[in-house]
Amino acid sequence: MTAQRLSGKPVADEIRARTAQLVAGLNRDGFSARLAVVLATRNEATTWYVRSIERAAAAQGVECQVLELPDGTQAQLTATIEALNGDEAVHGIILQTPVPSGVDAAALVQLIDPTKDIDGANPLSLGRLTVGQPAFAPATARSVIEILEHYRIPLAGHHVAVVGRSAVVGKPLAQLLLQRDATVSICHSQTAELPEFTKTAAVTVMAVGRANLLTAHEVADSSVVIDVGTNVDDDGQLVGDVHTASVQPKVRALSPVPGGVGTVTTALLLLHTVQAATKVCQTIMWRGESMSTRR
Ligand code: NAP
Repeated sequence: MTAQRLSGKPVADEIRARTAQLVAGLNRDGFSARLAVVLATRNEATTWYVRSIERAAAAQGVECQVLELPDGTQAQLTATIEALNGDEAVHGIILQTPVPSGVDAAALVQLIDPTKDIDGANPLSLGRLTVGQPAFAPATARSVIEILEHYRIPLAGHHVAVVGRSAVVGKPLAQLLLQRDATVSICHSQTAELPEFTKTAAVTVMAVGRANLLTAHEVADSSVVIDVGTNVDDDGQLVGDVHTASVQPKVRALSPVPGGVGTVTTALLLLHTVQAATKVCQTIMWRGESMSTRR
């Protein structure tokens, strides 16, 4: 048996189609969506990533404004985020990490207006997700759900083991899974007997950042494995957290690295931006209509 490949490409295509539909609706009403990316570093890989967001936005008819503040200070970055919060033409804000040394990124993301926090970076967004209120989840966590739903992997009533408890992946993902009635184990570096969780899970999500951590001995037969990890191996190749050669013949389905979760995230950032813009547009239209009714 060889595992089904849970490729991210068709999932991203489907998300882009949803975004295109919303963009068409916005344009019909005379609106457009705008994403602002605050880039406070000269890091080559980060700059490349931001350029890829710009290209993807252009392809979807979403405006993308990159605010470059290399070596920006806490005060400058604070003022930038506050200005973006107050700018009605901006619907999504991303503070791209890393930030310059000495700058407190945690304090900055707390400033992002939750209605514009399209990558779920503000802890308020995670808090809202936890109590079931509307909020944007981090795109990476949401990508895992989009993949599972696209390939119709059942979640309700099933045990899902999430390995990794960061605020960007593990914790928000656990909330999204709970919302779908999964029974969730959140595992981490201090989990005793990690295989006891992964071997009994119908779905295992690896979000650690350690190549080959999950081998065939630690997964259940015919289970589903989603690999969020991104690592560079000794040959300079991008690999996930899963030991693919041993796990693939044992499981029912596996998401590849590259070509899995990472393929979906940018599409989701743009969908979230357009969803935020649609909400603003609907509010403005509703206000206009109620004003004209009152007149
Ligand atoms: P992180 O903040 O470093 O968190 C890693 C998590 O893994 C922590 O909760 C840590 O436990 C846990 N962990 C470490 N060693 C472990 C072990 N031996 N057994 C079990 N758990 C262990 O990383 P992150 O930001 O969540 O990212 C996780 C991975 O996803 C990285 O490879 C990252 O590059 C990748 N990623 C991919 C995308 C994408 O778009 N594809 C986006 C974001 C991240 P403790 O909490 O106890 O330290």
